[in-house]
Amino acid sequence: MPSVNSRDLRGSRAIIFALLALVPCSSLRAQVTRPDAEKQLAHDIYKQFVEIQSAYTTGSTTPVAEAAAARLKAAGFSDSDIFLGGGSEKKGNIVVRYRGTGARKPILLLAHTDVVEARREDWTMDPFQFIERDGFFYGRGTGDDKAQAAVWIANLIRYKQEGYKPDRDIIVALTADEEGGGPFNGVDWLIKNHRDLIDAEFALNEGGWGDESHGKKIANNLQVSEKYVMNFRLEVHNKGGHSSLPVADNAIYRLAAALGRLSDLGFPLKTNEVTSEYFRRIAKVDSSSAKDDLARVADGSQDAMQRVAAASPTWNATLRTTCVATRLEGGHAMNALPQLAAAAVNCRVLPEDSVDYVRSTLQKVVADNEVAVNLLGEPSAGTASPMRPDILKAVTDATNASWPGVPVVPVMVMGATDGKALRIAGIPTYGIQGFFLDRDDIRFHGRDERMGVQSFYEGQAFLYDLVRRLTKP
Ligand SMILES: [Zn+2]
Repeated sequence: MPSVNSRDLRGSRAIIFALLALVPCSSLRAQVTRPDAEKQLAHDIYKQFVEIQSAYTTGSTTPVAEAAAARLKAAGFSDSDIFLGGGSEKKGNIVVRYRGTGARKPILLLAHTDVVEARREDWTMDPFQFIERDGFFYGRGTGDDKAQAAVWIANLIRYKQEGYKPDRDIIVALTADEEGGGPFNGVDWLIKNHRDLIDAEFALNEGGWGDESHGKKIANNLQVSEKYVMNFRLEVHNKGGHSSLPVADNAIYRLAAALGRLSDLGFPLKTNEVTSEYFRRIAKVDSSSAKDDLARVADGSQDAMQRVAAASPTWNATLRTTCVATRLEGGHAMNALPQLAAAAVNCRVLPEDSVDYVRSTLQKVVADNEVAVNLLGEPSAGTASPMRPDILKAVTDATNASWPGVPVVPVMVMGATDGKALRIAGIPTYGIQGFFLDRDDIRFHGRDERMGVQSFYEGQAFLYDLVRRLTKP
C-alpha cells in the first residue's frame, strides 16, 4: 500500500492496540502451519518473487507474473486458464482461474507484485536478496505485498494437487503498480480491459493484517472499507497595493479569517455498518473506563461519540469526515499588499459522504464569497464493502482455528489500496492476510523490510483454510 496509507493504517490500529493491549490472549498458541513440502513451495515462490526487482521505476512486474505462470503450468494449470498481460511491457499482471463447480460466483484473490523503491545504501543488506535471519525473512516486498502473492500461488497449486473441487472458481490476480498508481495500475487495467477475467462475487486483498505486540497476538484485522481523499484550494485574490497604504480588504486577513472558521468545523459524528461493528467489538474486550462509551457509540449515542472522539484523534477520524489546512501561500513582496493568499485543505471523507456534501459544507463554513473553495482533481468516492455475515463468520472461524481467542476486528482505514477500485467496480473487497506483525516495528516501505518466518507460514495456513471455507461446496 502507498506510504501515506501505511502510516494511516498504523494510526488506525493504535486504538485497537490501546484497547486490546490488556486483553489476555490465549496462551495456547496453535501455531498451525501447512506440511513441510507446502511450506517449502511457498518459501521458494516467495524468495523468487522478492528477488525480482519490481519497483515502479527501477523494475518490472512482468517477470513476477511470468514466474508465477511457469509455476502454475508446471503444476498442471492449462494455458487457457492463465492470462498474462498489462498496461505496458514492464507492467505485467497474471490472472489464473482454478475451476470450481460453478455453483456460486467466483472469489478473487488479489495481491500486488510491485514494490516501493529500495536502495542498497539505505539498507543493511541487499534489499533484493531474500535473506532468512534471526527468525525473519528480509527483503523489499517481504511484507508489502509479496508474501500474500506467493501464498495465493502456493495454495492454489496445493488445491490442485489435492484435487479440491470448490463450489466457485478461485481467481488469483497478481497485479502491477499498486504503489505507483498511474496509468499502469493492474487492477484498473484489468477492470477496463478484461473485467470478465476478474469478475467475482467478492475479493480478498491486502490491507488487514494481524496485530502483534511483544509476541502476543492482539487482533486479526479485517479491512472492510476505506476513507477517500479530497483536496481543496482556498484562494483569495486582491488588487493589492503599496504596503505603506494598507486598507481593510486584505487577502491574507480574509483567508486567515476563513481558516479560523474552518478550524472550528467538526463534521457530524456518526457510525456506519463497519465502524459500529468495530466499536461493538472493541467495547467487548476493552477494560478501560471508555468501555461503556464505546458500546454506546456502537448503538449510535451522540454523547458517547463526542467523548470518544475527544479522547483520540483516531477515533475522531473514524467517526467523522475531517478537513484540515495543510499548506499556505500568499503575498509577493515585503512591501506590497498581498494579491493572493491561498491554503490547501486536505479532507479524509467517510465513504458515505459525497463530494458535493463536503464542498458545500466547506463553502458554508468559509462563509465568504471572496474566498474561492476549489476542488482539486476528481475524487472518486469510496464505497464500503458490506459486512457480510458469511465472510465475517469464515474469517472468525479460520482465525479461531489458527489462533484461538484472538478476536477479528473489522476496520475502516484512512488510506487506500487497490480494493477501492474493485469496490467501485462492484466487487466488494476485504483486506485479510493473517500475517501477524509487531505493531511497533512495521517496516513496509522502509529499510530492512521483513516478515516473521513463523508469521509467514501461519498466514499461509490461515489463508489456505479461509479460502477453503469460502469456497466449500
Ligand atoms: Zn501493498
